[in-house]
Amino acid sequence: MHNTVLVPIDMAHLKEGKSTIDIALQNAGESSQVILLNVIEDIPSWAAAQLPQGTIERSKQHARKELNSIAQSYSVPIEIDIRLGHTYKVILDVADEKEVDLIVIASHRPGFQDYYLGSTAAKVVRHANCSVHVVR
Ligand code: ADP
Repeated sequence: MHNTVLVPIDMAHLKEGKSTIDIALQNAGESSQVILLNVIEDIPSWAAAQLPQGTIERSKQHARKELNSIAQSYSVPIEIDIRLGHTYKVILDVADEKEVDLIVIASHRPGFQDYYLGSTAAKVVRHANCSVHVVR
């Protein structure tokens, strides 16, 4: 069993996100901490200037609301965390910061692209300081 389990969730793929939460809970003990993390991808300031004002804040609120409602649908406490930055880097930073001992992450389906692991999953597997469970 793992004490602290991190589940990065892509808001565009909530269905696969829910499968990763199920696997995280199977690998978590009764007193373990399970954290759902969404990263709002940081964009250069010149590009941000083209967006309607408040776009990033609205994305954060949307992610918080969705993840809260997913977390509350489980009978165990689940923490949520929303951050801004580059996705794979934030996942690795949060894993170190919260002393995570397992990351549960989904990947592209085999044959979906030239690579068997999507870019985020591949970078997390390569650089994480803890165990990583890749769900396919
Ligand atoms: P990419 O589309 O960048 O190649 P992947 O297909 O590797 O990414 O994404 C796999 C997993 O990475 C997702 O299932 C999710 O766990 C995590 N992930 C992707 N984007 C985000 C995000 N914005 N916030 C949190 N986790 C994410």
